[in-house]
Amino acid sequence: MTGGKLVIVSGPSGAGKSTIVKHLLSNTDYNLTFSVSACSRKMREGEVDGKDYHFLSIDSFKTKIDDNEFLEWEEVYPNSYYGTLRTEVESLRSSGHNVIFDVDVMGGINIKRHYKELSISIFVNPPSLEDLEARLKARNTESEEDIARRLRKSKMEIIYGKRFDHIIVNSKLEDAFAEADPLVGNFLM
Ligand code: 5GP
Repeated sequence: MTGGKLVIVSGPSGAGKSTIVKHLLSNTDYNLTFSVSACSRKMREGEVDGKDYHFLSIDSFKTKIDDNEFLEWEEVYPNSYYGTLRTEVESLRSSGHNVIFDVDVMGGINIKRHYKELSISIFVNPPSLEDLEARLKARNTESEEDIARRLRKSKMEIIYGKRFDHIIVNSKLEDAFAEADPLVGNFLM
């Protein structure tokens, strides 16, 4: 496998992984490009198709599963499918870019299993479950029911942190950035 390297950022929903991904993307020295996942959930206000996600119907998502188009995919929440398209990753890598992923915990483990030492996997942990709940509520993008579902899933996901190359506890964003930067910088440069 020739081409760019991969930076996998995973962790429970609301732990702050998207913010860390955005921070890493802002450093042009890393030559990182975001891997836009496919998903079947509804688009949120402000999201852009093809930029935040490739938004698909459940049927077309399932057709792509059958056609083996995904490097990995998960039914992250009931009827909400998310997946990484093989073409997305390989076209970015072959054009010389390093690729960064914001994926759920099982997705992160699966991408690492595929790309092994070509990838670095970072698990972003919230300081506590109480803190995670507060962050999900403050985000104000999910219903009470969705938040409860995400919290149940997070409790299970935290156990998988040790399967990642590195764990960052995101208590304060500046500290999390200061931890992530040398890890990613040393790996990519
Ligand atoms: P959200 O609905 O908040 O955008 O994302 C829900 C969860 O799905 C997040 O934990 C996010 O990291 C994860 N996710 C996004 N894209 C993918 C993907 O391609 N594969 C997997 N396995 N999870 C994803």
